[in-house]
Amino acid sequence: MSSRIIPVADYRSLPSAPRIPASLEQPTGLLADSLARPLRDLRISVTDRCNFRCVYCMPKEVFDKDYAFLPHSALLSFEEITRVASLFVAHGVEKIRLTGGEPLLRKNLENLVAMLRALKTPDGRELDLTLTTNGSLLARKAQALKDAGLNRVTVSLDALDDAVFRRMNDVDFSVSDVLHGIEAAHRAGLGPVKVNMVVKGGMNDQEIVPMARHFKGSPTILRFIEYMDVGASNGWKMDEVIPSAEVVRRISEVMPLQPVDPNYSGETAARWRYADGGGEVGMISSVTQAFCHDCTRARLSTEGKLYTCLFATSGHDLRALLRAGHSDQEISSAVAQVWRARGDRYSELRTGSTEGLAQGPRKKVEMSYIGG
Ligand code: SAM
Ligand code: SF4
Ligand code: SF4
Repeated sequence: MSSRIIPVADYRSLPSAPRIPASLEQPTGLLADSLARPLRDLRISVTDRCNFRCVYCMPKEVFDKDYAFLPHSALLSFEEITRVASLFVAHGVEKIRLTGGEPLLRKNLENLVAMLRALKTPDGRELDLTLTTNGSLLARKAQALKDAGLNRVTVSLDALDDAVFRRMNDVDFSVSDVLHGIEAAHRAGLGPVKVNMVVKGGMNDQEIVPMARHFKGSPTILRFIEYMDVGASNGWKMDEVIPSAEVVRRISEVMPLQPVDPNYSGETAARWRYADGGGEVGMISSVTQAFCHDCTRARLSTEGKLYTCLFATSGHDLRALLRAGHSDQEISSAVAQVWRARGDRYSELRTGSTEGLAQGPRKKVEMSYIGG
């Protein structure tokens, strides 16, 4: 049996409000961090709860009936989220992704989508508004989300074999219900739908080729994600990571693949196309080929903390500033200061020393809280 690392301290309650700078500034839409990376993407976690217990994310042993999820009063309201998002948009954010936990568990999420839809970039463009979901409630919600202004969805699906998938989500949820959700998303016009498959060696790697075959030639874009050492509870080990190069090799053996140039600089998924014209697959090599140098992503946790890296050990409490009555300009200036100081490049550093860094004494936050 694999050993688990059980969280012992609650990183969520540490006081950490950023300082309001003495001299306030106006956002210019051109904010760069200490490594010259602009602020372009914002991931917003709308709930820390989930109806799945994926073994690599919210293992049952940790996220059990005694686990203290955040109370509703701790969550940012839709008004608070929209206000923070508008400040980020003024700093240059063009893409917002709603995530969690399972974002579709947040009641009336379509109302938030409509509120975010109303935001425009400083030069008047619409935002790219997307959502990542486990697909369980998508069939029910797809049309309302589209009507509210959502552009696209990404659905997580780790296997086509029902027994394997049920073992991965650990709540006995069936593949067919997720596939129905994907169909509903296509019908509602939430395409191109992307499907994310986290590959965990010894658990679902035998599903790589069946998944590729299933989505080949369909309008759904399948992406393989290397199993990451996020959080402190999944008991990550390097030898359970199947490198993307190996995924490409296994698919190519039966359905030859060719590399494709990226759509834009900073694209997280490396693109591969089937040599016979059967479409594309993506490889997200967060462990073996870190892409920190192009990382333009900020994360807003469920309770309003700003994280500048998925592997950060602490966040900057924007909720405290909101609820203390600070002005937009004050909060915006505090955000600018945090982003300018950002020097995170965890995955690049981890690539050099792998498990030493991943299992070191620093306590990383959970993906379900920070938003994947
Ligand atoms: N519940 C939603 C879902 O599963 O799509 C959204 C939140 S989930 C944390 C976002 C993404 O993170 C999912 O695609 C999930 O597979 C991925 N993820 C979670 N834990 C991971 C890990 N340890 N390594 C790689 N990806 C992970
Ligand atoms: Fe829930 Fe998504 Fe984490 Fe799975 S990956 S436990 S669906 S938040
Ligand atoms: Fe970005 Fe941090 Fe991931 Fe690097 S490790 S790509 S800085 S989130």
